[in-house]
Amino acid sequence: MTAAEPAASRYEAVIGIEIHCQLKTVSKMFCGCSTEIDGAAPNSHCCPVCLGLPGVLPTINKKAVEFVIATGFAIEAKVATTTRWDRKNYFYPDLPKGYQISQYQLPLAAEGRLTFDTSDGPFTVCVRRAHLEEDTGRLIHAELDGRRVSLIDFNRSGMPLMEIVTEPDIRTAEQARRYAEELRLLMQTIGASDAEMENGQMRVEANVSIRPRGQEAFGTRVEVKNMNSMRAVERAIAFEIERQTVAVDAGEKIHMETRGWDEARQSTYHMRPKEEENDYRYFPEPDLPPLLTSPEWLAEIKARLPELPSARRRRYRDEQGLSAYDADVLVNDATAAALFEGAVAADPAVPPKLLANWVTGEYMRLAKGGEGSGAAAVDPAELAALVELVVDGSISGTNAKEVFAEHFATGRGVSSIVKARGFEQISDAGALGTAIDTVLAANPAAVADYRAGKAEVLGFLVGQVMKATRGQANAGMVQNALRERLDKAE
Ligand SMILES: [Zn+2]
Repeated sequence: MTAAEPAASRYEAVIGIEIHCQLKTVSKMFCGCSTEIDGAAPNSHCCPVCLGLPGVLPTINKKAVEFVIATGFAIEAKVATTTRWDRKNYFYPDLPKGYQISQYQLPLAAEGRLTFDTSDGPFTVCVRRAHLEEDTGRLIHAELDGRRVSLIDFNRSGMPLMEIVTEPDIRTAEQARRYAEELRLLMQTIGASDAEMENGQMRVEANVSIRPRGQEAFGTRVEVKNMNSMRAVERAIAFEIERQTVAVDAGEKIHMETRGWDEARQSTYHMRPKEEENDYRYFPEPDLPPLLTSPEWLAEIKARLPELPSARRRRYRDEQGLSAYDADVLVNDATAAALFEGAVAADPAVPPKLLANWVTGEYMRLAKGGEGSGAAAVDPAELAALVELVVDGSISGTNAKEVFAEHFATGRGVSSIVKARGFEQISDAGALGTAIDTVLAANPAAVADYRAGKAEVLGFLVGQVMKATRGQANAGMVQNALRERLDKAE
């Protein structure tokens, strides 16, 4: 190891990710308050339980427990047969009762794993645990009548949260982003969370340290927070690795701290020194009994799991012949995947690969173009019918795109659009013959060239016939007919 080597090759990053996901339940974790808090007036969704008033008793939200167990199965984790609730004690103005109900020693799920693709190939991250807890309230720092004040909104207090913690297996910023993306897709697929980072439904925190390559012991870790997009996750971690590398190279000591990501400056900044775990004085929650998960209940939850993203990608590749890229694009977009599945089911005679091309190409291009409500109008059976028309040569590819755009915008049936626009291809030999005669008569020089051995002139002649028929001739038939005519007359 010498100083001449680039720093990136002398150090190795060690990264662990902690993700909090807001679970998609109807009511909060331990009370009956609604979870529809987006846009609600501050403090309009709370009760004595989620305000933490003295003397109230929490009751467990069964659906929230089921979501964590389902996640456990989805990441091949061990699901607990008995679990317990623990109090995590700390003081903060957004936590009026002075503790959070969480799971410390017996998480609902442990020792799972998640495999996903990266630019360096497949990568597997071991998941240490997934547990259930309640969210805190929210502090809002504002200015009121010229004074700086801190306001508090308890709507978020008691919202169900799942915390998922990985082992420190991750080595690059890209792997960290891909892990978070794959977990988000998994949450959305099983319906446990909408997991939108922009509105705080999914919060990603990273523990980042570096160590000299080949060294077993971990370096001092720094916690990075406030990453509000997947891009921010990758950039913040990459920044932090670089910051620590420069510091260690300069002989500086890394301090255990929590740092925030500043999107505007594209850098991390010091927030506070990091507390140690034992500061929280966890102890078993006396107001809640241990939770027993019967084998029947677990089996039921497992049976309800939908097809998971990894299995779906495999099926698209292995059974339907899609490229890895197309399979991935479809699996990442639930609406596109549903359209593809529907079209395949509507007409099994059309090769799935062709349908996938239309969905990942024309459909996603139009959907992205913000033509908004149009996406909902696309009927899978109409898409299959359109592709079938292209396959059997009834309509040209270019015209088919126009037909699809109109169907996308209006929902009008494909055959009616084809008729209305006069797009039915001329596949009738007689009608084609007339057009070919006209073109051959008008281009004697090209005909002579072809007969003199310039085979490439054929393309020009095909083009002329297509032009004469306003693109409605079947190009394959035109080519064959032209070749037959020119070769025969020789
Ligand atoms: Zn409540």
